[in-house]
Amino acid sequence: MGKLLIVGSMAFDAIETPFGKTGRILGGAGTFIGLAASQFKLDAAIVSVVGDDFPQSYMDILKNKNIDLTGVEVVKGGKTFFWEGKYHNDLNSRDTLVTELNTLADFNPIVPADFTSADVVMLGNLHPNIQMSVINQMEERPKLIILDTMNFWMNSTWDELMAVIKKIDVITINDEEARQMTSEYSLVKAAAKIQEMGPKYVVIKKGEHGALLFHKENIFFAPALPLEEVFDPTGAGDTFAGGFAGYLTESGNISFESMKNAIIHGSNLASFCVERFGTERMINLQKHEVDSRLVQFRDLTQFNIELT
Ligand code: AMP
Repeated sequence: MGKLLIVGSMAFDAIETPFGKTGRILGGAGTFIGLAASQFKLDAAIVSVVGDDFPQSYMDILKNKNIDLTGVEVVKGGKTFFWEGKYHNDLNSRDTLVTELNTLADFNPIVPADFTSADVVMLGNLHPNIQMSVINQMEERPKLIILDTMNFWMNSTWDELMAVIKKIDVITINDEEARQMTSEYSLVKAAAKIQEMGPKYVVIKKGEHGALLFHKENIFFAPALPLEEVFDPTGAGDTFAGGFAGYLTESGNISFESMKNAIIHGSNLASFCVERFGTERMINLQKHEVDSRLVQFRDLTQFNIELT
C-alpha cells in the first residue's frame, strides 16, 4: 500500500456561522486532511504537535481511522493551537478572529522512521520552515510533494514560503490567495506565475465554485457539488487536499489525467465536510455515501455534445 505523510495543525477551533456557534471543537488542517485521506486504501501518518490539553478522545478519532500518530508530539504543560473564525452570511468569506499558535510556535517536526520514504507528502497549511524541515527529513525524494498554504503565511513569512515552494510539485491555494501571491487578477495568469515559482501543478480552490487544476498549457475544472445546505465550510480546503493526496497515494499514478480524478475525489469529500460543524460529518462518513455521491458528481458534469 502507498504511504502518505501528512503534516498539519491539530487544533481547537471555535466557529461561528449564520447557523450557530460552537465552543472549542476538534479542528486543524492536519486533522481534516487525515480524515479525508482515511477514505482511501493507504498507510497514513500525521506529523503535528498538541498540548496536553488535547483530549485523548480526539486522538482516538484519528487512531480509529488507522492513522499513525507516532509523529504527533504532545508538549507537557503546553497549549494546543487555537483558531477562531466567523463566516459572513454568504459563507464564502470569513474573518479569522483569533490565531493562537501556542505549541505550534516552536514546533520541531520529527518524521517517524516508517514514513521517511513515504510516496506522497502532503504539507498542510503551516509555517513554511516546518514544511521545509519535513521535506529535508525524507530519505529519498517522494513521488509527489503537495503543499497547501494561506494568506497568514504569505503575510508573515514570504521568503520562507518562496524557498519551500521551489521544492514541491503541487500547490493547493484558494483564488484570493493566488491573486495575492502573484498580483494577477486572472487565475490563468496567476497559475502561470505560480508555476514559475516552482510547483509544476497548481490547484486553485474556489469554494462553492469548484476547483481548477493547471499544468503547463493544460487546464481542468471541477465544480463543487451544489448542496441544498452548507452549514460550516471550515476544513473544506483541507478535506479537498486530503482527498486529492489520498487518491493519488492509493492509485500510485501522478499523471495529469490521474490528478483530474484526484480533484473530483477531493471535491466529493469536501462536499460532505461542509454539511456539519467542524469534523463531525467526516468522522462518521461511510464508504457507500462517498461512492454514491461520486455517481452524482459524474452525472452533474457529463454531457454529450456533437462537435462538427
Ligand atoms: P480551511 O477551512 O480548509 O482553510 O481550514 C481550516 C482549519 O485550518 C481550521 O481547522 C484551523 O484550525 C486551521 N488553521 C487556521 N489557520 C491556521 C494557521 N495559521 N496554521 C495552521 N492551521 C490553521
